[in-house]
Amino acid sequence: MSSPNRGNVTIVGGGPAIGNINVDLHEAFKDIRRTDFAAGRSINLALSYRGIQSLKRAGLDEKIKSLGIAMHSRMIHPLNNPCYEIPYGRKGQYLLSIDRLKLNQDLLTGKLLFMVLQCSKCMTIKLTSNASNPVVTNWVYRLPVIIKNSGPNILLVLNRENGGNVDETSQVLFGCDGAYSAVRRQLQRGLFDYAQVYIPHGYKELCIPPTRDGEYAMPPNHLHIWPRHTFMLIALPNQDKSFTCTLFMPITKFEKLKTGDEVLDLFMRVFPDSVPLIGEEFLKKDFFNLPPLPIITVKCSPYHYKNKVALLGDAAHSMTPFFGQGLNSGLEDTLLFDELMEKYECDFDKVLPMYSEIRCPDGHAISDLSHKNYIEMRDSVTSLWFLFRKKVDSILHFIFPSLIVPKYSMVAFTRTRYSKVITDSEKNTKIINVSLIGSFAVLVGFAISAYWRTQKRESIIPEIFFTAWQCLSSTTAHFRNVFL
Ligand SMILES: Cc1cc2nc3c(=O)[nH]c(=O)nc-3n(C[C@H](O)[C@H](O)[C@H](O)COP(=O)(O)OP(=O)(O)OC[C@H]3O[C@@H](n4cnc5c(N)ncnc54)[C@H](O)[C@@H]3O)c2cc1C
Repeated sequence: MSSPNRGNVTIVGGGPAIGNINVDLHEAFKDIRRTDFAAGRSINLALSYRGIQSLKRAGLDEKIKSLGIAMHSRMIHPLNNPCYEIPYGRKGQYLLSIDRLKLNQDLLTGKLLFMVLQCSKCMTIKLTSNASNPVVTNWVYRLPVIIKNSGPNILLVLNRENGGNVDETSQVLFGCDGAYSAVRRQLQRGLFDYAQVYIPHGYKELCIPPTRDGEYAMPPNHLHIWPRHTFMLIALPNQDKSFTCTLFMPITKFEKLKTGDEVLDLFMRVFPDSVPLIGEEFLKKDFFNLPPLPIITVKCSPYHYKNKVALLGDAAHSMTPFFGQGLNSGLEDTLLFDELMEKYECDFDKVLPMYSEIRCPDGHAISDLSHKNYIEMRDSVTSLWFLFRKKVDSILHFIFPSLIVPKYSMVAFTRTRYSKVITDSEKNTKIINVSLIGSFAVLVGFAISAYWRTQKRESIIPEIFFTAWQCLSSTTAHFRNVFL
């Protein structure tokens, strides 16, 4: 393959969304491959199709899958009623609960090897590596990153942790440095749209340890949810038989909790079945160990600057965690980027604008979808209408697998563009609601006229045929209107 771009590639930020592109890495945190805890953020997270596809491209999918626990359904814990399940998709479809630290460690190790193979086609790779134990050079740099144009290259001024600046030129810079991206801040000086919003809710992590006999305290193959309308508790399983719980609640409600007894009282009132599992002592004492963390959403456009800078992952689109897509979409960014590199033969003049053109609407769409899913998780999952609609959706999906795909399945189990998920699911909702209302009206008509006929001792068989015909023709007419 001929390559118009031969030069260095620099990455700022070594979080998980860095995925399968990496050449010369500058990371502010210490080398995560040599630590036993992940800084900030959740301890585990849900990996789904998009993330796994990206890992597959890097040859890491099987390794990472072996580190996860399959969650086939949501397990809802209502207040004072028995638990019930809501499947995520069809049989065999699941989310993978995965340890963030292990995932990140493997990404950094495996990814470097992968990049040597992948990028050597078109770039000079600046990293010291021996095949089995790649080493990242220039590890510890801190904010700020200052970017200046320097002919065909870009000049980075990096602040070293132990003082002093270092200048470095690079042909392309990838900003993978998370929601508070220093690279993105540099782009904000030009023609660049940017908006950030803190939602009123924050989160705090708790733990359900294994039982005394070393088993899971709850069934492990589910994402457990305690929906309480304006707030919720969730729990994801870990391989060590514990669960990581996350309490999402308005920050103002967190602030009202001043003592251990108040925390215990809240949990006894709203999450009573979780109290013996988490432990009264933990709730009373350790709850206050860390403050609740805020949740920021970031939308920006474009995701690139000329043929020189691209933003990936949270640096481009930080979102609320309620669809479990933050990391998955970040990994999909890298997959898309890789696909474009292949398509345009590593020509950054074409790849970077095209990446922005495709990805910006999708980044904005998944941000909106994630926010809406919070209402679904903490509130709608308790409503009968929601449960009925989920059933109808899955039956229709079973009958028309490629025509009607539930929104959740499109997001979690396909690579349908997020912006298309919104338009398709709006269409689906319209068609299903109209069909349900139409069928209900026809059935009521049928009941009335059948009653009238039986009163007159007449046969109701013509009525049955007429009703079935009405249902069928109104539904197909609606299908045609929406889809053709
Ligand atoms: C509570 C919670 C639960 C979540 N659950 C899920 C889930 O289930 N599924 C899912 O897909 N997503 C989930 N997410 C979202 C997911 O965590 C993020 O989308 C993902 O971590 C983004 O990866 P990233 O690499 O873009 O950014 P980050 O993970 O933030 O990594 C950025 C890296 O850049 C480094 N850095 C920052 N600034 C600089 C600098 N100037 N110089 C050098 N290095 C720098 C940082 O040290 C860090 O290592 C969740 C998020 C939260 C908060």
